[in-house]
Amino acid sequence: MTTPAITTAASTDFGPNNPFYSPSTLPFHAPPFDKIKDGDYQPAIEAGMAEQLKEIAAIAANPAAPTYDNTIVAMEKSGQLLNRSLTTFFNVAGANTNPTLQKVRSEIAPKLAAHRDAIYLNDKLYQRVAALYKQRGTLKLDPESQRLLKYYYDEFVHAGANLNETDKTALKKLNEQIASLSESFDSKLLAATKDGAFVTIDKSALAGLSDAEITAAAESAKGRKVDGYVIPLQNTTQQPTLGSLSNRSTRETIFQNSWGRSERGNANDTRDTISQIAQLRAQKAKLLGFPNFAAWSLENQMAKNPEAAISFMDALVPAATGRAATEAKDIQAVIDAQKGGFQLQPWDWDFYSDQVRKAKYDLDEEQTKPYFELNNVLENGVFYAATQLYGITFKERHDLPVYDPAMRVFEVFNADGSSLALFYTDYFKRDNKQGGAWMNNLVDQSKLFGLKPVVINVCNFAKPAPGEPALITSDDVRTMFHEFGHGLHGMFANTVYPTLSGANTARDFVEFPSQFNEYWAYEPTVFKHYARHYKTGALMPDELVAKIKKAHNFNAGYDITEVVAAAQLDMQWHTLPPTAPLQQPDQFEKLALEKKHLWISTVPPRYRSSYFAHIWGGGYAAGYYAYLWTQMLADDAYQWFVDNGGLTRANGDRLRKMVLSQGNTQDLETLYESWRGGKPTIAPMLKYRGLAPETGAK
Ligand SMILES: [Zn+2]
Repeated sequence: MTTPAITTAASTDFGPNNPFYSPSTLPFHAPPFDKIKDGDYQPAIEAGMAEQLKEIAAIAANPAAPTYDNTIVAMEKSGQLLNRSLTTFFNVAGANTNPTLQKVRSEIAPKLAAHRDAIYLNDKLYQRVAALYKQRGTLKLDPESQRLLKYYYDEFVHAGANLNETDKTALKKLNEQIASLSESFDSKLLAATKDGAFVTIDKSALAGLSDAEITAAAESAKGRKVDGYVIPLQNTTQQPTLGSLSNRSTRETIFQNSWGRSERGNANDTRDTISQIAQLRAQKAKLLGFPNFAAWSLENQMAKNPEAAISFMDALVPAATGRAATEAKDIQAVIDAQKGGFQLQPWDWDFYSDQVRKAKYDLDEEQTKPYFELNNVLENGVFYAATQLYGITFKERHDLPVYDPAMRVFEVFNADGSSLALFYTDYFKRDNKQGGAWMNNLVDQSKLFGLKPVVINVCNFAKPAPGEPALITSDDVRTMFHEFGHGLHGMFANTVYPTLSGANTARDFVEFPSQFNEYWAYEPTVFKHYARHYKTGALMPDELVAKIKKAHNFNAGYDITEVVAAAQLDMQWHTLPPTAPLQQPDQFEKLALEKKHLWISTVPPRYRSSYFAHIWGGGYAAGYYAYLWTQMLADDAYQWFVDNGGLTRANGDRLRKMVLSQGNTQDLETLYESWRGGKPTIAPMLKYRGLAPETGAK
């Protein structure tokens, strides 16, 4: 094989003193957080890449004819050092980071990309995999092994391994051009977003903001060395302050700054960049034998092709926009009642919809929080629901090292008492933690290595003062159930190969178990078990419960319409044929949305083309639909439970056996449909998200 251009200089620092040098000796091979120092990661990761390349080179150069074991299983066994250092690194670099770890992350990113190319563009290795794939009918493999063979074969082909040398060179050049344009998009957008901040010296322009928000705006101004107040832009079209700013002209300015941030004709204008990316991606798809980029990208997803994703979204549009129109009417009524004398504009939406929300639902989080004490929600809610459904139980362990003292560790047991997994929580916000919430596997389950899963949930809940209880919001409760749903997908994994294990599934499937698990938060038997006042133990009053439920679907028309508009835009950019000329983004966007009945003056897309970082910079090109698709699956799955007796052990066990333990060991469409007994439909989504006519009516 050709030697990949990867230096391993840092690996000289790597030896038996490095905690990643050999597998962890802790129970479950849990990461030795008490021994790992910041400086240990990079040498381990780089040595891990070098080690895997050596292993791969040996597989490719094996003089023996390819067999499933000497090629596919051997590949699966390669890279263990790399895997154990990366799984721990990526969690800590997100959850407990510092400048050293950030530097490591940016330094290893291009090296990891090159490492992947060195494997998937290794022709000798590909020839072995392709030969096996051709003989697959005669290899007598079990279904999981068949799936793994297909997985590797598809990965190679997807990366261009079966192209001739001329085309490979062309592909490499396209990949480099796209990567450099994406990079340029990211840096332009970063600068454009920074420049788009709202700046004022007039405090009255900020009327409606809380004292804390005004202080933060003054701090932002100081940070930028300007007088007055600065409100920085967030990534989305709508901005969080628009819900409270009472000065209409401030709202309009902030909105226009957001909408036009990267279309100002200056050096940070991204429009030329994105049209070029779209065109190059279409050419790349053509080279790989696909009619457009989306077709190439969706080949290994549950939806399989853009048509499936598009027709699903088309079916959502009438209900979502219909509901949004009703919401707009409600808002206009408030504006008129206050003698506003103007037509609703997008910068008015949140400000008035908050008033509608208060008038209709009057949900005060301060009233509900005392019923949501964090540890109680976890043990008597999240864990309780899992025990009812799957029979699993939890026992806290205090003998395993953590990287923050507030973390908790539980051992999880099956109904028969056998040990299943370790589950870590890292729930509280810290300055050195990335925003949002997520689940990670610290150890991937696999029978190949005899490993049980170690899973962590990381969130950003407000940390209470010492000695005070952690009282969380109704959204936080939902987040806990959500992340634990990902956790179950990791913990129930019961597969031979780590590559196919647990949450290692397609983008348009992976959010299904988590969104589905959210449903149990408000299941009456579960809710009554945990939603108790932290002082008195009293149950939450029914009218408060009803308000939480209603508030959840409030504004659903707007929320789903803005996402579906962005997702349709994404799909239309990425279904352009390779022959299409360079597009004018504004014109393209307007026509694309008009065509889908989504050009609605009051409900702009969640991201405009020119600042849609998911699809031009991040990894979601032709994949933004996945957010809606997995909601549809979750709602459809919940409907199956409703139709089949609800929350029971039998139903839980069946889901575990047929779906949650299966990882990516089967075609995901077939997997879902076998469990469901048919294709998923959007009817439950419309019903449970407040878009169906009967729930949409006032
Ligand atoms: Zn999630």
